Amino acid sequence: MSDPIVVVGAGFGGLSAAIRLRARGWPVVVVEAGSQAGGRARVFESEGHVFDAGPTVITAPYLLHELFQLLDRNLRDYCELVPVDPFYRVRFDDGTSFDYVGEEDRLLSQIADMSPGDVDGYRKMAAHSERIFDIGYKQLAHVPFDTVMDMLRVAPDMIRLQNYKSVYGLVSDYLKDERLRQVFTFQPLLIGGNPFATSSIYLLIHWLERKWGVWFAKGGTGSLIKAMVNVLAEVDVPVRLNSPVEEIVVDNGKATGVRLQGGEFIRAAHVISNADPSATYKHLVAPEHRKKHTDRRVGNVRQSMGLFVGYFGCEGDYDDTVMHHEIVLGPRYKGLLTDIFDNRVLADDFSLYLHQPTRTDKSLAPDGKSTFYVLSPVPNEKSGIDWEAQGDEYFDRILSHLETRMMPGLKDRITTKFHMTPRYFRDELRTPDGAGFGPEPTLLQSAWFRYHNRSEDVDGLYFVGAGTHPGAGVPGVITSAKVLDTIVPAPDVAVPVPQPAMEWVAK
Ligand SMILES: Cc1cc2nc3c(=O)[nH]c(=O)nc-3n(C[C@H](O)[C@H](O)[C@H](O)COP(=O)(O)OP(=O)(O)OC[C@H]3O[C@@H](n4cnc5c(N)ncnc54)[C@H](O)[C@@H]3O)c2cc1C
Repeated sequence: MSDPIVVVGAGFGGLSAAIRLRARGWPVVVVEAGSQAGGRARVFESEGHVFDAGPTVITAPYLLHELFQLLDRNLRDYCELVPVDPFYRVRFDDGTSFDYVGEEDRLLSQIADMSPGDVDGYRKMAAHSERIFDIGYKQLAHVPFDTVMDMLRVAPDMIRLQNYKSVYGLVSDYLKDERLRQVFTFQPLLIGGNPFATSSIYLLIHWLERKWGVWFAKGGTGSLIKAMVNVLAEVDVPVRLNSPVEEIVVDNGKATGVRLQGGEFIRAAHVISNADPSATYKHLVAPEHRKKHTDRRVGNVRQSMGLFVGYFGCEGDYDDTVMHHEIVLGPRYKGLLTDIFDNRVLADDFSLYLHQPTRTDKSLAPDGKSTFYVLSPVPNEKSGIDWEAQGDEYFDRILSHLETRMMPGLKDRITTKFHMTPRYFRDELRTPDGAGFGPEPTLLQSAWFRYHNRSEDVDGLYFVGAGTHPGAGVPGVITSAKVLDTIVPAPDVAVPVPQPAMEWVAK
């Protein structure tokens, strides 16, 4: 049997890569620094409440089904996905709101109520979003962008689709009402991009959400991670926790294995890094093996914004008034984003994403209680904000804001709370500048300009996850593993994949 492929990191990207490579007959070992699998999608528990730490909005669920099918399994036997409606309720500072949904007639009737002159503009914008999706998602997301030719080939389409404009710039060509512009441009924030700077390629997210909907995993996103780890165990892929990689060992320009903290060496046919690519090059590959990705070059990568995430559980619920997913916009849009991305100051106002999973799944809280998290995009660690000193006060301000705007009596009803700041992303998840989503998805950090899935410096070293093509978000990182099908060679001798137990086959 050949040496295994070693996957460094058990985030959605690493677990997807392990599944795909195992399905091709490779023996695979996953090594994860943390005490849990999932990375950003790990789970916190407090006083009977179950909190997904990160991703909560599951889109393009077929990507998950596909992974299980590759191993002749059915995701439904491991985890249940349920649709969420509305996808989001978007609340504006003036007290009005918009239910962001998938059906065109429901969208159009709300647009007609809010700004009748924008109905036709929305239709045209949606059609533009579909055209971008047809190229940017269907044709390009799962293929490698290794060479400059790959980029040149798509350049004419990108120009024709006006991808040199920002998401906000393109949407504003179609919609006049500022509130509607916000409804259809906040999505890049969920993959680390400023809508005013992110290429309009990412307008494809709108079409992706309309096409496949927004889903929630019963038991929380953590149950999807559990399902992936369980299916890997069935096909003999260990996910070794508490196993930080200290070095990717390179011999004659080729990755030959990984050295774990404590000294253990695991020999590898190839190494797949799901860790952030900047951190991988800088901390795991010795400088003498890096011609292109020098410390200087890696340091010049512009990282996405940081995230403040406050988790809380409370008595009773707000099911009647608070949806499963809420976007709570503040008084400023562009100004606030400039403060976060460019000025790197902690503003007095905020725009929030509020998650109430117990509206869909009561099992995530003790009886009579409910579970929430609230996310505020903030400057990354380059800002120098002293979160130790400011974190508690910032969380308190957010809770007061929610109480005043939409959750009366909230602060008295809270029974448990804690928060994460960009420092957690830097120290626990080993992400440069404590960025929430890896490198910012600007045009000059997307596709060929993003970290390539195949290392140019080290043979046999590959990347999956948010920092590489196609980028952050659960669909993006699962798709990055799909790119490996094209660039990682097949094993000399395939190791057969154990078939599912008979009771599954019978279902
Ligand atoms: C708060 C938050 C909310 C989000 N919401 C959504 C959402 O609703 N929908 C959506 O689609 N996306 C969402 N995202 C984005 C999405 O979660 C991420 O893009 C995705 O989960 C990243 O997966 P990944 O595999 O690239 O990396 P990660 O999840 O970061 O996993 C990388 C893993 O590598 C491990 N690692 C790093 N270095 C080493 C080392 N040296 N040795 C061993 N292991 C190592 C880390 O411990 C980690 O487990 C959200 C992100 C955050 C933070």
